[in-house]
Amino acid sequence: MNKVVKTPGRECFLNSSPAGWSAYLQAVTAAREVFYQHYATLSRPFSGIQVGQLKALLEEIPVCPEEGRPIEEVLRETGEKIVRHSVVVHHPACSAHLHCPPLTAALAAEQLTSAMNQSMDSWDQSPAATMLEEKMIGWLCSRFFDSTAGDGIFTSGGTQSNYMGLLLARDFYLRERMNWDAKRKGLPAHASRMRILCSKAAHFTVKQAAALLGLGEEAVILIDTDKRYQMDLLDLDKELYQLKSVGYLPFAIVATAGTTDFGSIDPLGEIVRRAEAEKIWLHVDAAYGGALLMSDRYKQQLAGIEKADSVVVDFHKLFYQPISCGAFLLRNKEHFELIRRHADYLNSEEDEWLGIPHLVGKSVQTTRRFDALKLFVSLQATGRIRFAEMIEHTLEIAQEAAQLIRRDEHFQLINDPPALNAVVFRYRPTMRKVESDQLNRNIRDVLFHQGKAVIAQTRVDGMTCLKLTLLNPLLTSEELVNLLQAVKQTGLKLEMERGGNQTACRPKK
Ligand SMILES: *Cc1c(COP(=O)(O)O)cnc(C)c1O
Repeated sequence: MNKVVKTPGRECFLNSSPAGWSAYLQAVTAAREVFYQHYATLSRPFSGIQVGQLKALLEEIPVCPEEGRPIEEVLRETGEKIVRHSVVVHHPACSAHLHCPPLTAALAAEQLTSAMNQSMDSWDQSPAATMLEEKMIGWLCSRFFDSTAGDGIFTSGGTQSNYMGLLLARDFYLRERMNWDAKRKGLPAHASRMRILCSKAAHFTVKQAAALLGLGEEAVILIDTDKRYQMDLLDLDKELYQLKSVGYLPFAIVATAGTTDFGSIDPLGEIVRRAEAEKIWLHVDAAYGGALLMSDRYKQQLAGIEKADSVVVDFHKLFYQPISCGAFLLRNKEHFELIRRHADYLNSEEDEWLGIPHLVGKSVQTTRRFDALKLFVSLQATGRIRFAEMIEHTLEIAQEAAQLIRRDEHFQLINDPPALNAVVFRYRPTMRKVESDQLNRNIRDVLFHQGKAVIAQTRVDGMTCLKLTLLNPLLTSEELVNLLQAVKQTGLKLEMERGGNQTACRPKK
């Protein structure tokens, strides 16, 4: 046998040799410079590049050359072609989605997380990380629930957490009510009658989860919302009654604490009462609104959540964490048994008898990032009070936005008043013949491609609307005025170009 004399890629890994360390420093320093040059100091939220241009730009780069080249050179090119044409999430005019500027403390923690590369599935791949994640989950459960039996797991975000909640709700129902072990046997014939209730404003991933769970999208019954976009309790009662009277099996209610478009919070306390009376699993999707628990002033709005069977909270939204970071929480830890499984090579039953924690048993992922660390570091470095002030500022600036929109005859406010910091509105054309949906859509596109503002578009009752999601705690009143001004000016200019000399349709005040 030949003896291996030379190991390939000596400087390509972080290792205990001085050469390995200096290569690491060189690489991260180069990355930092690129970031600074092409991103951190940009004065616009987007370069405005078009789809075709971007495609062409990337076509020039071969993905996998035979020989490597210096990291500085690779990163320089990456900076010019990728970083420069990315949306600038910390820019005050970047306010489209639930897409936050990340805290600096979290960025530093991310460096540790990726360099340490712990994997959260088994104890022997992440001893201290496993303990910290468990500690963070303990803290979250104590904040959200009124029971001491809670447990949970960090997830990739609300999509995965909603899937997990409905998976557990489905299998719990089948076990308790139908004496059926879905984990082993799959779905019974009567599963086609199982139903989930959520409001019309709930996140689309409720339907997605129903489809993935073999129940089908039609298993999701959409409850009407009231004029504040909260679940209408009368309609909930009516649907529950009707479903049962024709032999359907309602097994889960999904309440939303912070709907994605409107930030509206369903009446949680009232929904708890119905779920308890009907013995139905209550899953609260607080991906967005869960952050209110940080604020003494606003946490009361989540009252009722402490009785939910499962809760979703995202940290890559109003907790200012880099993507991805979320959690799925269970009020009663025993329900994790419904998904737990053992792999001899990872989490043997013997280990678990010995009390060695392997988090894989609580997750639908196997290899999993140590995302709890950045939240831990952020909370430690920021402190609860300052965290609360940041969130409160965004809620207050959203009220200011609503006020500006209300007062301006060129705008129409849709969610009045905004429940959290999402503000939905429309630009009202002044000229009779201008098609309003198209115009609103064009306003957004023009602002994006001029690189002036990144705002969202959504549909409400069949109308195309614009949306600001004001997550940035650094947004000032003046910047907000400028942002709305840019929307209005763009609307007026588009109308001029298109409408020509038609007469104004709105009476002068
Ligand atoms: C964002 C969001 C989701 C989806 O979460 P991801 O983290 O994007 O997977 C689900 N529900 C609500 C209410 C959300 O706002």
